[in-house]
Amino acid sequence: MTNFYLTTSIPYINGEPHIGFGLEVTLADVIARYARQQGNNVIFTTGTDEHGGKIEEKAKELKITPQALADQNSAKFRELATVLDITNDRFIRTTDKGHEQRAQIIWKNLSKDIYKAKYTGWYCVGDEAFFTETVVKENNGICPAHNRPYDKIEEENYFFRLSAYNDQILKALTDGSFRVVPETKKNEVLGLLKEGLEDISISRPKEKISWGIPVPGDKTQVMYVWFEALLNYITVLGYPEHEDFKKFWPANVQVVGKDITRFHAAIWPGILLGLGIALPKALYVHGFVNVSGQKISKSLGNVINPAEIVKTYGVDAFRYFFLRHIPSYGDGDFSYEEFERAYNNELGNELGNAVQRTVVMIEKFQDGVVGNIPPAEHDNAVYHQAIADFKFDRALDSVWEQVRGLNQFIDEQKPWTIAKEGDTEHLREVLASMVSDLLEIAESLVPFLPNTAASIKSIFAEGLLHAQKTVLFPKIENYKTDKVEKG
Ligand SMILES: [Zn+2]
Repeated sequence: MTNFYLTTSIPYINGEPHIGFGLEVTLADVIARYARQQGNNVIFTTGTDEHGGKIEEKAKELKITPQALADQNSAKFRELATVLDITNDRFIRTTDKGHEQRAQIIWKNLSKDIYKAKYTGWYCVGDEAFFTETVVKENNGICPAHNRPYDKIEEENYFFRLSAYNDQILKALTDGSFRVVPETKKNEVLGLLKEGLEDISISRPKEKISWGIPVPGDKTQVMYVWFEALLNYITVLGYPEHEDFKKFWPANVQVVGKDITRFHAAIWPGILLGLGIALPKALYVHGFVNVSGQKISKSLGNVINPAEIVKTYGVDAFRYFFLRHIPSYGDGDFSYEEFERAYNNELGNELGNAVQRTVVMIEKFQDGVVGNIPPAEHDNAVYHQAIADFKFDRALDSVWEQVRGLNQFIDEQKPWTIAKEGDTEHLREVLASMVSDLLEIAESLVPFLPNTAASIKSIFAEGLLHAQKTVLFPKIENYKTDKVEKG
């Protein structure tokens, strides 16, 4: 078996789990399930990013310890992954002792590229990030995202010599040994590299931020949260000594959102090169989800709750919409109208109906006996290529072409007419061919809609009908539209 390592980014836990995390783990879960289906030995990780001033500040506000806040919020992200049927093998928290210890080992192993220097700049604790003079002036000294003044910061920090690795990263991107998908994101990164990367600050003074991993050998400093969070991708495998690290690194795919492309396509490779270890094979960058054309924000009241969608429509319907109707290579839009339309038309009327019609006819004409099922006849090359390219929307399009083709086949063959004519041999062939198609569709759906795939397979198992009591994707109308108006 070939080893296959896959990660998502780890969300910062200062708030509730958001739809961006739901989208990301779902995309990654397709990759993981597909890799397993292809016979790979998979480690799939996700987790939470838990240090930093923002957590410290919020905990103070709530009069609890940062660790208690981290525990509370991390559990919510873990719970969401469960609700979405995500098959992650590990869930790493940056407050795990193992992560903290290994992050310190990494710091020591990078020491030739770490130096101390004075730093002057503008900082927003809401972003846990520094901003340039130009940005601060544009915003009249107030961070628009957090409605608070930037802090002028003058401090001694440790820096990582990222500039030293600029050309190596550029080369890896250009020769394709480090793939960044889609191409538009790769080009953005190439642009940054051609300008030249600057060294980056990787620590903060402990007197200002105490909620962080101590810098080895310097009691006055903690690691900058952004830097330390990136290390999770190897600490979770037990860098440097564990067998898993030796067997599974470099990652086959790392999945991240477009807002952190720079961290993963420039800074992270720099750290890896500093450690003398291989770059990941691929970085897949996904876009954002808007709601009814607007950016999601608490103040607009348009925050969508993935758990509620799952409760109403089922987990596979959630996965379906976000995998097919949010473009794999860009930003997408969610609205309950669109969601319901896709649910009723594509899942209910097309897929659900194809299964239902087949079941009903086999029951009626053949007493539930399917008989010999012919082997699948499509090569599905488009489907497999789409997954290799992380075009999950395209892969599902190709499955749906087959679903529509099957419904068309049924309409043209008219098994009910064949039954009336009494040609039982021909009827058996037509029905068995329908089942063969459905089983092939189910196989293609395994990574995407695992529960639906399992239902279809079990209905037609062993050439006998094992009909379910409920139809797949029963019609739901105006559930949420009503609810939103009321709320
Ligand atoms: Zn801010």
